[in-house]
Amino acid sequence: METSFPPKAIRLLPEEVANQIAAGEVVERPASVLKELVENSLDAGARRIGVEVAAGGRRLIRVVDDGAGMLPDDLLLALERHATSKVASAEDLTHISSLGFRGEALPSIAAVSRLLLRSRTVGAESGGQLRVEGGRVIAVEEVGCPVGTLVEARDLFFNTPARRKFLKSQATESGHLAGTLVRLALARPQVAFRYTVGQQVTYDLPAGQDLASRAASLLGRATAEAMVRLEEEEGFLRLEGLAGLPSLSRSAADQVYTFVNGRFVRDKVLLHAIYQAYRGLMPDGRRPVVVLHLSLDPELVDVNVHPAKTEVRFSRQQEVHQALAGALRRGLGRSRVFKPTHQPTVGGPAPQRPHPQPERGPWTPPRAAAPAGRVAEPGPQAARADQPALPAGSANRMRPLYTKAEELTVIGQLHGLYVLCSSPQGLVLVDQHAAHERLTYERLKAGLAQGDLPRQGLLTPQTLELTPGESAWAGEQAGQWARLGLELEPFGGSTWAIRAVPPHLAGGDPRPAVRDLLSQMSASGLPVDTPEFVETALRSLACHGSVRQGQRLKPAELEELVDQICALHPPLTCPHGRPVMLLLTRHELDRSFRRGSEPS
Ligand code: ADP
Ligand code: MG
Repeated sequence: METSFPPKAIRLLPEEVANQIAAGEVVERPASVLKELVENSLDAGARRIGVEVAAGGRRLIRVVDDGAGMLPDDLLLALERHATSKVASAEDLTHISSLGFRGEALPSIAAVSRLLLRSRTVGAESGGQLRVEGGRVIAVEEVGCPVGTLVEARDLFFNTPARRKFLKSQATESGHLAGTLVRLALARPQVAFRYTVGQQVTYDLPAGQDLASRAASLLGRATAEAMVRLEEEEGFLRLEGLAGLPSLSRSAADQVYTFVNGRFVRDKVLLHAIYQAYRGLMPDGRRPVVVLHLSLDPELVDVNVHPAKTEVRFSRQQEVHQALAGALRRGLGRSRVFKPTHQPTVGGPAPQRPHPQPERGPWTPPRAAAPAGRVAEPGPQAARADQPALPAGSANRMRPLYTKAEELTVIGQLHGLYVLCSSPQGLVLVDQHAAHERLTYERLKAGLAQGDLPRQGLLTPQTLELTPGESAWAGEQAGQWARLGLELEPFGGSTWAIRAVPPHLAGGDPRPAVRDLLSQMSASGLPVDTPEFVETALRSLACHGSVRQGQRLKPAELEELVDQICALHPPLTCPHGRPVMLLLTRHELDRSFRRGSEPS
């Protein structure tokens, strides 16, 4: 193919532009700035770290430490790309023990903010100070200051409007900031952290805490008390951590904290090992609360996989997988909370199944259930083994149905889970939980169209310990909770009191519903005033408080349920998209009984 593009000259990008491009990888949002700055403080051996943020980190992120500090001459150098004091050669990259090593963070942050850098080393008479705006140094001064370093990033992305546009609401960014702080503080329980949001001190964590007390400060005492301590050393691997009892299960993996050599990581191998250890102890799809520290020779783990450094590669991943899953199972087994029954009977209310699912057999000892060799390649394919396989050919025999109530005659209830009906077309099954969920959802939605959802006060307010991210989020959404029929009130720290709930939740324990709602909503990052927000919130609320599997309904209730379902708009699915009503046609029945063309 002929082209007529004139050749363009190749140019080296000016430093400023190169730094802005690099900033795109390192500084995704305010929370990444917080992370990089605190990691630098930890690398400098700080014992006390102060973090202050304002306006979701857009206006200000300030990190002050009592670490080793920098010499005045090094301040300018620290702003050069690939300038680092942490590695000197390619060989050093094979055994990294510091959190930083790429020498990219400071220049990247400096490129997209107004930066102040102030530092003094032990023994130096005075400190040095630098001011940089959008990558340009505008002042270098000598100042008096305490030993240690202060870095202040103001007006993040002030010179990159395209990036600024991608920032989420202040509440969302605040949630990310708090989440990042929690991860860093869990990574180093021995270091003191003080976290100030606006003018308010959110966390004041003393130095020298052990992991359990740090977890109690950050995740809440009730959560920490429902966690089992783990401590194991297996050959090349040391493991220390806390494993939550299944009763703590969550709807998302937002409280799965894994650290490798003091660095927070999100790693497929580790996650898979964790979920495998909990398999059979909590409903499918629920996630545990765990805080796990793995220590191993830095030579055996590659952290230089991605600029954000949350991905790692283990050179002995299979052994890591086995050791972790084994340690978790032993730890959970020791707790004596779950004997080989499917659902725990001690340690809080049994986890509610978010959706009806086929029962599995009783829990069997892990060794028999999952021979270690089976998980040769933990990873995406292995993870899929979680899902129950459908017996071949059974899936397509039934199809979703939408029909008039007059066409259906209720026959009865099956397994306390399905309503069986006859229809001229064949046998009809209604999933009673899915049906109820949809009806509750429609009712909530209609209620909301009239104004705020009705609220029912609780006789005894229930308390709930939230993560700082959720707590920040909950606080900023106060107006929206009333709309959704909820009355939530700060109760000190990250504890909140639930004072009122929509009537459909008032009969039971409202805490799982509110907790799921908050963790889903704060994780979704949706702005509160969007229809999507309301939609997601309603779905979450509808899921709880609906008829669960195993609930016997009287014939009149079954009739009523079927009538109401048939009055809905198609498609007949629950708010999560699963079918509510399925038809096994007369034709299918005939075929299955091999009645074929014979006269009936
Ligand atoms: P990296 O952490 O990958 O080395 P950075 O750009 O984050 O790269 O920091 C560059 C250098 O600046 C560091 O290697 C370190 O020498 C110095 N530095 C940054 N922050 C601090 C701090 N809080 N205390 C002491 N030195 C620091
Ligand atoms: Mg760094």
